[in-house]
Amino acid sequence: MKIIVITGPPYSGKGTQCEILEKVLSYKHISTGDVFRSEKENGTEIGNIFKEYEQKGELVPDSLIIDVFTKIIDDNSSEVGLILDGYPRSKPQVDDLIAICNYKGVVISNVLNIEVPTDELLIRAKKRATTSNRDDDKDSNLHLKRIEVFEELTKPGIEYMKTKLNVLDFDGFGSIEDLTNKIVSCL
Ligand code: AMP
Repeated sequence: MKIIVITGPPYSGKGTQCEILEKVLSYKHISTGDVFRSEKENGTEIGNIFKEYEQKGELVPDSLIIDVFTKIIDDNSSEVGLILDGYPRSKPQVDDLIAICNYKGVVISNVLNIEVPTDELLIRAKKRATTSNRDDDKDSNLHLKRIEVFEELTKPGIEYMKTKLNVLDFDGFGSIEDLTNKIVSCL
C-alpha cells in the first residue's frame, strides 16, 4: 500500500482536493477529523475526549492519534493507496507516521502541502460556516484559533517533513480545478 499525505492549514481546501483525487487515483480518502467526528457521534471514549479539544479548536494529544492511525492502516490493508488528510499535524506525529509506515511496510510516496494566505483562509472559513454541519466550523471564534494552532504546531511539522519525505508545495489560492491540475501533473 502507498500513502499520499495532504497537508496545509484549515480551510485550505484539503478535503475538496481529496474527494477529487480519490476518484482520479483510486486511492481511499482518510480524514482523521472525520474519524474523530464519527467517534463523537457514536459516543465512544475517544469521541468524548475529542469533543473537549474540538470545542477549544485544539489538536487532540499526539498519544491518542497513534492508535487511531495504526487502526486506519490495519483496517485498510487491502487498499492500493490512501490519501491521508489531517495527519500528521505535529513534529512528533511525523516521527510516528514514518515509524508506523516502516513497521507496516507502507510507502509514503508524496506529501502535498497546500499554501493559502491567512486572510483568504478566514474568508473561506466564514463561507464554510454557512453550509457546514461541523461544530468547529459553526463557531466563528474558533476560525482564527485553528489557524494559530496550525502555525504553532503543524507548520513546524511540515518543515520537519521536508527533511524526511518528498514534500511538494502548492499555491492553493486559485480555483479548485487549477489546484487539482497542478497536483495531478506532479504525481
Ligand atoms: P479536521 O477535520 O482535519 O479539520 O480536524 C478536526 C479536528 O480533529 C482538529 O481540530 C483536531 O481537534 C482533531 N484532529 C484531526 N486530526 C488530528 C491529528 N492528526 N492530530 C490531532 N488532532 C487531530
